[in-house]
Amino acid sequence: MIQRVAVIGLGLLGGSVGLAIREHAPGIHTSGFDRDPDVRARAKDRGLVHAVCDRIEDAVANADLVILCVPVGAMEAAARAMAPALPDHAIISDVGSSKQSVAEALLAALPNHTIIPAHPVAGTEQSGPEAGFASLFTNRWCIITPAKDADQQAVEALSAFWTQLGARVEIMDAEHHDLVLAVTSHIPHLIAFTIVGTASDLEDVTRSEVIKYSAGGFRDFTRIAASDPVMWRDVFLSNKSAVLEMLGRFSEDLTALQRAIRSGDGDTLHDLFSRTRAIRRQVIEEGQDDDRPDFGREDHS
Ligand code: NAP
Repeated sequence: MIQRVAVIGLGLLGGSVGLAIREHAPGIHTSGFDRDPDVRARAKDRGLVHAVCDRIEDAVANADLVILCVPVGAMEAAARAMAPALPDHAIISDVGSSKQSVAEALLAALPNHTIIPAHPVAGTEQSGPEAGFASLFTNRWCIITPAKDADQQAVEALSAFWTQLGARVEIMDAEHHDLVLAVTSHIPHLIAFTIVGTASDLEDVTRSEVIKYSAGGFRDFTRIAASDPVMWRDVFLSNKSAVLEMLGRFSEDLTALQRAIRSGDGDTLHDLFSRTRAIRRQVIEEGQDDDRPDFGREDHS
């Protein structure tokens, strides 16, 4: 039974976990810690968890489940800092966007604890303690990536926990997770960072024109490209091999498109754009986005 949850890192994900517990699992007591005193004060003001602690040891001391909600590159340090105060029975989990490297980091820091990594595939481009909201996980997938010899009861308890918060749970091998997320999340972010960077570097189009005419498509990339720099730096450094593999595939496809444009091969372009339009329909049918045109924006400039 999970009755006490400690949340480490009180930004978008940590805050949302705390608020979702308050709304969907009010019987669970939550404690939390963030290394930034200002974030702790703002987390207290918003009531993200029942008890905001000034020391990580106090936050985890009585926890049945500890969820690390810090950037991927900070997981090991946070796990080491809480190690002396962790109850033996506590399940240690996280929300990190890459899974193989986090599993290795947590195992190195806590070799004698029950570690069940997880990744709720839900987020926004915002960060910090004001960014979290209780419905972030509703109808979103949470991928749990237990090691082959993981404690099954702990896996079931964590699955039940995320289901209670409104998520749909999938169990997956960490290596496969990293490959899937490289395609569905990490490469799309890399493309957005690139296109926004390229557009702002162009000399023959002024920067003000890029902003002024952004409704042509550019502004949708700027949302993703506004994501937290620390979080995304860590994602690319920690999921290096899967990202590089998928980037290779992407570059080949881009080169093929380049060739089709140069040679006037309209059929190739039309076939691809028809397939991608069908994928958008599937995303909507799966309940992963709504079908209002232009994301439901009021102005269609
Ligand atoms: P965030 O809003 O920036 O929150 C992270 C918080 O953790 C910050 O307040 C940060 O403080 C704090 N922190 C850093 N190192 C710490 C440490 N050693 N001990 C305690 N607190 C520490 O980031 P987020 O978007 O919630 O992301 C958190 C995790 O969720 C990441 O691993 C990310 O990969 C994963 N995730 C994110 C999304 C998304 O869309 N954002 C979606 C799914 C999963 P400082 O600011 O002082 O560093």
